[in-house]
Amino acid sequence: MQQREVDVVVIGAGTAGMTAYKTAKKANKRVLLIEADQYGTTCARVGCMPSKLLIAAADTAATVAQSHKFGINVKSMQVDGKAVMQRVRDERDRFVSFVLNDIDSFPAQDKLKGRAKLLDDHTVQVDDHTCITTNSVVLATGSSAFVPKELLDAGDRLVQTDDVFYWQDLPKRIVVVGAGVIGLELGIALQRLGVEVTVLNRGQRIAGISDPKVLSYAQRIVGQTVQLELDTQVTGTELSGDQVIVHYRRQGQAHQVQADFVLSAAGRKPNIANLGLENTSAQLDDKGMPQFDKDTLNITHTPVFFAGDVNALHPLLHEATDDGYQAGLNAAHWPQKPKTIDRRAPLAIVFSEPQILKVGQSYAELESSQIRIGAVDFANQGRSRILLKNAGLLRVYADKQSQRFLGAEMVGPAAEHLAHLLAWSLQMQLTIKQMLAMPFYHPVIEEGLRTALRDAAQNHT
Ligand SMILES: Cc1cc2nc3c(=O)[nH]c(=O)nc-3n(C[C@H](O)[C@H](O)[C@H](O)COP(=O)(O)OP(=O)(O)OC[C@H]3O[C@@H](n4cnc5c(N)ncnc54)[C@H](O)[C@@H]3O)c2cc1C
Repeated sequence: MQQREVDVVVIGAGTAGMTAYKTAKKANKRVLLIEADQYGTTCARVGCMPSKLLIAAADTAATVAQSHKFGINVKSMQVDGKAVMQRVRDERDRFVSFVLNDIDSFPAQDKLKGRAKLLDDHTVQVDDHTCITTNSVVLATGSSAFVPKELLDAGDRLVQTDDVFYWQDLPKRIVVVGAGVIGLELGIALQRLGVEVTVLNRGQRIAGISDPKVLSYAQRIVGQTVQLELDTQVTGTELSGDQVIVHYRRQGQAHQVQADFVLSAAGRKPNIANLGLENTSAQLDDKGMPQFDKDTLNITHTPVFFAGDVNALHPLLHEATDDGYQAGLNAAHWPQKPKTIDRRAPLAIVFSEPQILKVGQSYAELESSQIRIGAVDFANQGRSRILLKNAGLLRVYADKQSQRFLGAEMVGPAAEHLAHLLAWSLQMQLTIKQMLAMPFYHPVIEEGLRTALRDAAQNHT
């Protein structure tokens, strides 16, 4: 076994780990970055980027499919599944290559391949070849798909989201289990590419929407695109030739649906198994999650920091980067008192059709007696109607006393852009009045936001 000694060990070369590595290096520390699997990050290889590539193809197909509504006749439209998936893979590989170039630029002695495990607070073992003594550790091992046991009999007809981005062609029919962010994004994109999609969801809530009015609007629009089955319980799967039959119950009745594949999109779990956390001074809960300070990312009583998806705080790319920076900095200066992370305004976007946003505090987190709500229905919103994207609902929440903007939830057009205006306003601690004093061009979808803000201002007594 090779022995090494460094200042900081970073476990996991994803987005959080690479950022932590660079930050600790900038602090002139001896840093070792350990990766068990492929370099390239979840985001670039099987996450944000390939999913958005698939969605871009779906958007194009949908635009062509409804071109006749604008008086433009396209003689025939065909989705070439092989070509769609080829572009997804090619462009994905291009994004991955930029990450690989970055990794290549790190000195060879700073990188190690293998599965890392903590032997104690200051010792990390990699496979059975290297043992490292370190002053501090950053754990940035990410998350992986959770697969319900009811799906396991589906054999090779069971796919996880990672698999989708290696497909050579599109299937004819698919069942998506889970209407969370990832299930909804992929399910809607596949349907718009001509795949017959059934989405089975355990409860009523889709894509994490908590506002009941936005939720029922979203259920209605999404239900017009895919076969959306809510309040279902998947009871099992069976193979039938090259097909899978998914059995489920809804309102006490047994149902089944047949497809080429069943896609498990039932959530993700932090990669904490076999990390040896039980060998450290960390206090673990019954699921093996360590107690940690959400502000400094320090695992209590240890020199170990917890960054990115693995800490399950905010499983989003920009949050993984911020976590990686803070964890890298705090690990580099350990045992100095760790510094607090400067969190940005909460911002989440779902690239469904229409898109969904959540900014700041959600409806469920707010006390209804303390807030004023402003709303806009996009059905008659000018620019949305011009673009034939006039479906959606935005609700903004403001503090009753101060009129400070607190949060918003929305399903509707251009949510990815409105979300940024809202998040920036929140971070600037603006009031509804100050937001309304900003310029709005005409005719734009942002005028819909102005309508909602005016509504909130009027509702302010
Ligand atoms: C389909 C999909 C779509 C998404 N879309 C978006 C989006 O549009 N916008 C957005 O903000 N976020 C999106 N996300 C989430 C985003 O991808 C993640 O939040 C982000 O990639 C997490 O980065 P990370 O560094 O924590 O983990 P990762 O990038 O997963 O890195 C963890 C690394 O640790 C390694 N590892 C694990 N265990 C060990 C070990 N014991 N030893 C050594 N190495 C180990 C892994 O191999 C991996 O390389 C999406 C995710 C998915 C799956």
